[in-house]
Amino acid sequence: MIRFVSGGATDVGAVRSENQDSFVIANATIVVADGMGGHQGGEVASALAVQTFTGKITSENASVEELINAAKSANRAVFEKAQTDPSLRGMGTTLTTLGTLEVDGENRVGIAHIGDSRAYLMRDGDLQQLTRDHSLVEEMVRTGQLSEKEAEGHPKRNILTRALGVEPDVEVDVVQVLPLRGDRFLLCSDGLVRELTDDQIASVLRRLSDPTEAARDLVKRAKEAGGADNITVVIVDVADTDVDPEAAARSAQSAPLTTVAPIVNTPSTDSSVPPNKPAPTQAHSTPLVTVRVVLFLVVLVGVIGGALWLAYSYATRSYFVTTTDNHITIYKGRPGGALGFQPKVTKTYTYTLDDVAPARQDQVKMGKTFTTRAEAEAYVQRLVDEKVRLGITPTTVATLQPVTTTTT
Ligand code: CA
Repeated sequence: MIRFVSGGATDVGAVRSENQDSFVIANATIVVADGMGGHQGGEVASALAVQTFTGKITSENASVEELINAAKSANRAVFEKAQTDPSLRGMGTTLTTLGTLEVDGENRVGIAHIGDSRAYLMRDGDLQQLTRDHSLVEEMVRTGQLSEKEAEGHPKRNILTRALGVEPDVEVDVVQVLPLRGDRFLLCSDGLVRELTDDQIASVLRRLSDPTEAARDLVKRAKEAGGADNITVVIVDVADTDVDPEAAARSAQSAPLTTVAPIVNTPSTDSSVPPNKPAPTQAHSTPLVTVRVVLFLVVLVGVIGGALWLAYSYATRSYFVTTTDNHITIYKGRPGGALGFQPKVTKTYTYTLDDVAPARQDQVKMGKTFTTRAEAEAYVQRLVDEKVRLGITPTTVATLQPVTTTTT
């Protein structure tokens, strides 16, 4: 028989406005879920997954098959909920669970796992990751496309290759561990591991013996380190176990890796999915923020671009009529220039200020602005016509053609 002493903590973090993580410690069943999906979706998905899973584990002597079926039931519950409520469509969650199993008459710790919430084991002061993230970056590391170091800050590290609730069925990884008294398991959402290194986590786990205190301390440190995401930590201490400590010690000395390592890793079989089918790619909760950031930047660029365009238009796209060397001239731009754009001569008339009625001369000297060249030309024509109507013949009425025309 295995007895656990557990403690957990969760926090929204320093950036997010809602906590989409869920965790539960129900006797010998411990679950951490990190939800994803728009408004409310992530919270609903993670809470429903945790609730459904714990409801399905009724015995401390569960089989591996029961463990997988409980995770698949949680998958089905979240998937169906997402189908019936349009506002929840596309929601999903990670699921990492820890509980007791009975396999071949032997008590073991069983960890079911979908997504990138992790399980670790600290044994004899050494921390080891038991789960493998179902994420694009993890796959790139596995296939040698990225180094561990490059993976740490990789922009795509939140893209999941497997999540619970996004398809009718899901593949469940199961890790089994033969527990020893003093073993300390840690379950966490990615909000912890993106802020703290394994060494920092291990140091807290070594220093604080109370699991609740240690979980709270880790959450606090992750938040202080940036808290970019929701942070959830559950620590499970093996207070009692049937495993003979002497035998365990001997095996630990001779082959520490095999005793610490998961003794079986059982991916579930999923007959409905052909083996070559690529894993569904699901954007994790962080990409939603990334999408928001991208949208924000797009809007920002749009606003700045629009403002620049307006400024440019203001500075360059209007016309004004004034005089140059006493000749009436149409310029493109703004009188005196604007925003660094100097006005350009579009048309120079042989008319001078003398061809303009005296009452209009000041206006012309100041510069009269129009939105189109045609309007500016019509204005010049009106000025000249006006003078004619007033009985004053323009001096250069015979030369109506402009002396200079540049089109810009
Ligand atoms: Ca997360």
